[in-house]
Amino acid sequence: MSMRIDHVQNLYLSTTGAVNIAGSKEAKVEEKQGLTPQQAKAKLDKIRGYYQHAMNNGYALGAFNFNELISLQGLVEAANKANAPCIFQISQGARKFANEDSLIGMFEAARKQIKVPVMLHLDHGTDCETCLSCIDQGYDSVMIDASKHDFATNVKMTKEVAEYGHARGVFVEGELGKIQGQEDNVISKEQLYTDPDEAAEFVSQTGCDSLAVSVGTKHGNVKFSEDETPALDFDRIKAIQEKIETRLRAEGKLGANEHYPLVLHGASSVPADLIERVNKYVLVPRTLFNQVRSDETVKQEYRDELNKYDKSVKGKGVSEDLYNRAVKEFKMAKINVDTDFRLAYTAAIRDFMINNYPKYTPRDYLKPARQATTEIALRKLDMMNATGKAVGLPMVGDDSVFTATA
Ligand SMILES: [Zn+2]
Repeated sequence: MSMRIDHVQNLYLSTTGAVNIAGSKEAKVEEKQGLTPQQAKAKLDKIRGYYQHAMNNGYALGAFNFNELISLQGLVEAANKANAPCIFQISQGARKFANEDSLIGMFEAARKQIKVPVMLHLDHGTDCETCLSCIDQGYDSVMIDASKHDFATNVKMTKEVAEYGHARGVFVEGELGKIQGQEDNVISKEQLYTDPDEAAEFVSQTGCDSLAVSVGTKHGNVKFSEDETPALDFDRIKAIQEKIETRLRAEGKLGANEHYPLVLHGASSVPADLIERVNKYVLVPRTLFNQVRSDETVKQEYRDELNKYDKSVKGKGVSEDLYNRAVKEFKMAKINVDTDFRLAYTAAIRDFMINNYPKYTPRDYLKPARQATTEIALRKLDMMNATGKAVGLPMVGDDSVFTATA
């Protein structure tokens, strides 16, 4: 184990209070081995407990990304205000952008201000190495996304991460089916969407704790074309759940009162008000531009040329009502939202820059961005029916446990 990982792990273990770091020889041995099997099980059971609590109480855990301090602070404010248990996540891109140790340090510092259970999660780890490194760094959960590989490879990679994570008390999310990005080529639903029978087989073989499914959402801002009706495939969600739960119960891996957590990715709604806000100050004379573009007397090639210069953000996503239904009626356990945050954050800065042109202090324009992050998070937590649901729940990262009433 490298010095760096040792250091970070000790930092985490010391915050859990699980390990005595008095410096005695025995303590040193214990540190090297990490958690005992009992400690690892207790830690994992607690993370699983938040998912069960969400599914049994008709809400979802909101999973929001942060790349830097401003968005993290905005999220902390929202989690506390909403009194909602949630998940803050770091992507591989964020780890590259901001330095992984700095992000962990920021989160550990933020934990002191967080008054509700908040889990730290790796979003879309595309290789085992990244996932294992995050597990060593003290994340509460990681996602291994091997969905671009064939089924057998996906199983192999997910199983490896699940075994490594479980031995260290870390919850593991897998993905089956392809959740498209806006730039991907369109292929048929059957090729794209998660197959219920395969999902049951996948979960049984890998032991992953939750599964991201492809049922109609996409990553990015253009989730649907103009003529498409945005929808979620509720029948498929139900079928996936039933197949997985029947299989796991038959294998003695799921209790009678437990449910298997499913995860929705790419669940931004890209609402018209956010699109309007982010495009408000696009630096072209928009009215004139649109007039020329729509003028039938203007030659097609000229209009095509103009379209290339249209730098405004387009978008269409699934309405917030449908997500609300996925949570309340179909026990969706975790919902990832990112694009709507990006739109709100950027819109706030654009707005400030144009209307306060002489000001140049970063604190001045980052404040509205932080505020916008809080507002979007509050709106999403409400959509997920999570507001107020932290009452009576144990905190993450200490020795507290779920009580019978939680
Ligand atoms: Zn995703």
